[in-house]
Amino acid sequence: MSLINKTHDPSLRSWITSANEPGCEFPIQNLPFGVGLHPESNIKTVFVAIGDQALDMRRLSQLQVLSGLAKQAALSCETGRLNELMALGSVHSSALRHALSDLLSVNNTDAQRLSSCLVPMSGVEMVKPVEIGDFSDFFTSIHHATNSGRLSRPDNPLLPNFKHLPVAYHSRVSSIVVSGTPCTRPWGQIKSKTESSPKYSPTECLDFECEVAVYVGKGTELTQNIALENAEEHIFGLSLLNDWSARDMQTWESAPLGPFLAKSFMTSISPWVITLEALAPFRTSAAPRAAEDPALLPYLYHERDRELGGLNLSLEISIQSQAMRERGMAPMTISRPQFKDQYWTIFQMLTHQTSNGCNVLTGDLLGSGTVSGPVQSELGCMKEITLDGQQPVVLPTGESRKYLEPSDDVYFHCKCNAPGYQSIGFGNCVGRIAN
Ligand code: CA
Repeated sequence: MSLINKTHDPSLRSWITSANEPGCEFPIQNLPFGVGLHPESNIKTVFVAIGDQALDMRRLSQLQVLSGLAKQAALSCETGRLNELMALGSVHSSALRHALSDLLSVNNTDAQRLSSCLVPMSGVEMVKPVEIGDFSDFFTSIHHATNSGRLSRPDNPLLPNFKHLPVAYHSRVSSIVVSGTPCTRPWGQIKSKTESSPKYSPTECLDFECEVAVYVGKGTELTQNIALENAEEHIFGLSLLNDWSARDMQTWESAPLGPFLAKSFMTSISPWVITLEALAPFRTSAAPRAAEDPALLPYLYHERDRELGGLNLSLEISIQSQAMRERGMAPMTISRPQFKDQYWTIFQMLTHQTSNGCNVLTGDLLGSGTVSGPVQSELGCMKEITLDGQQPVVLPTGESRKYLEPSDDVYFHCKCNAPGYQSIGFGNCVGRIAN
C-alpha cells in the first residue's frame, strides 16, 4: 500500500494565499490539528492550520459541506479536543484530510462559503490539543545515551539493554503544558560531589531536552499486543516536546529507579499535531544497526519498519536571552538534531510499550527521548552541548550558558523536507525560563 496519495501532491495550492508562500510551515499538504480558544466565543475549538489562518472545525460541520466518513470525523471535533477524532482511527482522519484538501484547494469553486470558518492564527490562544492519559518518555537516541552515559561512566557509557529494547520510564501528565507556558525553576534535593549531604535549593542545571511526541490514536485492550507491522494504525500524529530537566537533581535522585522530580516539574508540547499521513513523504529507513549490534528480537523486527520506520525530521534548537531581545538580536540556533538518526523507531516504541499486554489509550503520549545526532552540531540538550557545563555556549551578546538562565527563551522548530515534495513544519515549541 502506497503511503502517498493526492493530498501530498506538491503542486497543490490553496485559495488561502499565505499557505502558498515559500517557507510556510502549514501549506495545504500539512493540515495539522490543534485546539485553541475561539477569539469570539472563548470556547475550546478544534482548528486546522492553513497558512496563517486557523479553520474552525465546529463551524465547518455546520456548513454541511462534508459527507460520509469525513463528516463523521468532523463531527467528532465538536468536543473541543482531539481525542474523539483520534479514537476513530486512520480511515476516518484520512477521509477528513482528503475532504479538507479539496475544500482548501484553489480548485474549489465554492471557496467563498468557507471564509466564515477562518480566523487569523495569531488571534487564537492555543491550548493542549489532547486530553492525555499516560505519558511514557523513551530514550531512543544512541548518541544521547552514549554521551550522557559517558559523563558518569566514562569506560562503559552505554548500558547493556540499550541495543535490545527501547528504554523508557513513566512520566507525569499533570504538568504537561502547551508551548508558551513559562518554566519555573524547580527546587529539589541536590548533592554536590564535594559535600557529604544534599541541600534543598533551586536547580542550578536547568536544561531542555528536544524530543518528538507521538500521540496514540486507536487504543488497545488489556492483554493485547500491537504487532510492529500494525503500529502505524495506532499512531495519530506527532508534535514537538520539551522535557525540561534539572540535571543536578537528576544525578542525585535517579539511582536506582530513574528520573522522578528532576523531570516531572514541567513538560512542554507544541500545539499542532501533525498527522502520520501528512508525514508520509518524509518516511525513510530506520537508522542502520551496526554489524556487531545484536539481532532484534522478532517482535521488534519487521521489514517494513526497517524500510519505512524512520522519519526525516530536521529539528532546530535556538536560544534568546533577555539581553539579546533588548538588543533586537534574533534567537541563536545552537543545534540541529536529525530525527532519522534515532536508534529505535516510533513504531518500535509503541510495539514495545504494549509487548507485556499493557493497554494504551487514545491520547496517550510517547516521548522519543532527547534527539541527538553523532556530531556536536546535532546534540539535543545543554548537558551534551556544554559537556555538563565544561564548554559553555557563547551567545552573540558575549554572555555564556552552561545551563539555562532566568528569562532565556528556548525554541524548538521542525522542518520536514523530501525531494519532490512540499516541505512542511511543526510550528514552535517555546518556553521562557521564569526565574
Ligand atoms: Ca526525556
